[in-house]
Amino acid sequence: MRPPSLTDELLDTLRARVTGSGGTHTTTAVFTGGDLATVPESTPDDVHAAVEHAARAQRDWAATPLATRLAVFERFHRLLLRHRDTVADLLQAETGKARRDAFEEFAEPALVTSHYLRTAPGLLRPRRRAGALPGAVSATELRHPKGVVGIIAPWNYPFALSIGDLVPALVAGNAVVLKPDRQTPLSPLFGVELLYRAGLPAGLLQVVLGDGPTVGGAVVDTCDYVGFTGSTRTGTLIAERAARRLIGCSLELGGKNPLLVLDDADIPATARAAVRGCFANAGQLCLSLERVYVHDSIFDAFADAFVAETGRLRLAAGYDYRADLGSLTSRRALTTVAEHVDDARAKGATVLAGGRPRPDLGPYFYEPTVLTDVTPDMRCHAAETFGPVVSLYPFDDDDEAVALANRTEYGLNASVFGRDRRRAAAVGARLRVGTVNVNDGYASAYGSTDAPMGGVGASGLGRRHGAEGLLKYTESQTVATQRVALLDPPRRLPYGLFAKAMTGSLRIMRALGIR
Ligand code: NAD
Repeated sequence: MRPPSLTDELLDTLRARVTGSGGTHTTTAVFTGGDLATVPESTPDDVHAAVEHAARAQRDWAATPLATRLAVFERFHRLLLRHRDTVADLLQAETGKARRDAFEEFAEPALVTSHYLRTAPGLLRPRRRAGALPGAVSATELRHPKGVVGIIAPWNYPFALSIGDLVPALVAGNAVVLKPDRQTPLSPLFGVELLYRAGLPAGLLQVVLGDGPTVGGAVVDTCDYVGFTGSTRTGTLIAERAARRLIGCSLELGGKNPLLVLDDADIPATARAAVRGCFANAGQLCLSLERVYVHDSIFDAFADAFVAETGRLRLAAGYDYRADLGSLTSRRALTTVAEHVDDARAKGATVLAGGRPRPDLGPYFYEPTVLTDVTPDMRCHAAETFGPVVSLYPFDDDDEAVALANRTEYGLNASVFGRDRRRAAAVGARLRVGTVNVNDGYASAYGSTDAPMGGVGASGLGRRHGAEGLLKYTESQTVATQRVALLDPPRRLPYGLFAKAMTGSLRIMRALGIR
C-alpha cells in the first residue's frame, strides 16, 4: 500500500540523494508487509567520500554570514509546512504509524527550526567574558563549528530524529553526514531534499545508507562529532568508538519511563492523557510511559478508567486521521512485544486489556495492553518493551512512588499527574530523569524546544533542544587580550612582593565581588 504522494519520480529524486555504490536494499511497506522502495546502500568507502565532500563544502558554509545561512532555514521552514502531507505519507508507509503520530513527528523539526532561527544569533555571537584582571585583560568567547557532524538515527521517529537534529548542526556552520535506519530512509531523504530546495549549498548534507555496524561505524570513524539516537547497547558501542578518536558524541538512548498518579489526580482526565502518553506511536517512543504507579486510594478507580480509555483506542492502517494507533514497525518489534506479554502472563500477571496481535489489521499490529500483578522476574518489569504494553503498580505515599520510579538504570522521561500542580512538579523534580511532564505524558517537555531534552544513566549523554542542542555542535574558543601587562611583575619588582600585591588584589576583588 504505497501512499499516492510516493511517485516513481519522487523516489528517483530521493535515491539520487544517497551516496551509495554498495548494492541496494528494499524496505517494507509496513501496513501490508510488502515491498515499499529499493534504495542504494553505501560502503565504508562511500562514507569516506561523503565526509570528504561534506568537509569541502563546510569551509565555505562556515565562512558564510549567519544571517545568510539562516535564510536557508527560513525557506526550509516554509517548504516543510507546505509538504506536511508528503512527510506524513512517507512516515506512515515506512513505519506503519498512525497519521496523528506522523503529524506529531512532522511538527518537531518545524518547531526546532523555528526555535533556532530565533535563538541562534544570540547563542552563536561572540560573547565578552570577564578577563583575568579587570581593565588589564579582556576575553571573548567564540563558537566555531565542529566540522562534519555525523547523525545516526533510529527507525521509530526517522524524520524528527534526523532532520530535527541535523538542522541545528547546519545552522551552527557544520556539514552533516546522515545515516538513517535501513528500514526508514524515505522520510529523512525527503527532509534532505527540502533543505536542498531551500538553498542549502551542494554537498553540505550527505546521506549514507546501510547496515548499522558497517556504515554507522564508518560514520563514527570519520566525522568530527556524532549525534546518535537509538538503543543503549549501540550507544555504548558508539561512545567507545568515539572515545578512541577523542571526538564528542551525544547519545539519546532508551527508557523505561514512569508515570505517577498522585492521590489528588483528576482520574478521568489522567486516564485520557495517560493513554496517549503510554500508547502514542504504538509505544515505540523512547519517551513513552511503560510503568504506571498509582496511589493505593485511587488504584481501582484509575485502573477502570484507564482500561476503558484503552478500549476506546481505534487501531487501523490508513493514510488518514481515523486511527489512534498504528502498527508496530517490524516483525522484530512485534516478536519482542508478544514475548514480553506472554512471559508476564505465564508468570502470573493479569491482562486487563489487549494482550494479542491483530493480524487482521496488518502483519505487525498488536493491541494496546494493560497489565497488573507484574513482578521483577517478568521481562516487562525492567526491560524496555518499546511497544504498546504498560504495567500498573500501586504505591502508598509520594516517597514510595519516587523510590519505585527511580528503581531503574534508565532516566529519560517521567510524568506526574496531580491536581496540585506545584506538588506534582516537586515530586517530578525528585525523579532521576532528563524530562518531567506534569499532567501530560511527554509532549509538553518534548515540544518545549527552548528547554533541553535528554537522558541520564543508561538513557544517554548530552541533550537536544535548548542552548545545548545547538552549542554541542560547536567548539568554544577563548581569545583573551592583555591590554596592560599586569600578570607578571615589572622587571625590578622581586617576585615575593608581586605575589603579596597580587594576593591583596585577589582579596579586594573577592570582597568587591568582581572576580
Ligand atoms: P539501534 O541502536 O539498533 O539503531 C539506531 C541506529 O544506529 C540505526 O541507524 C542503526 O543502523 C545504527 N547502528 C546500529 N548498530 C550500529 C553500530 N554498531 N554503529 C553505528 N551505528 C549503528 O536502535 P533502534 O532499535 O533503531 O531504536 C530503538 C531504540 O532507540 C530504543 O531503545 C529507543 O528507546 C531508542 N530511542 C531513543 C530516543 C531518545 O531520544 N532518547 C529516541 C528514539 C529512540
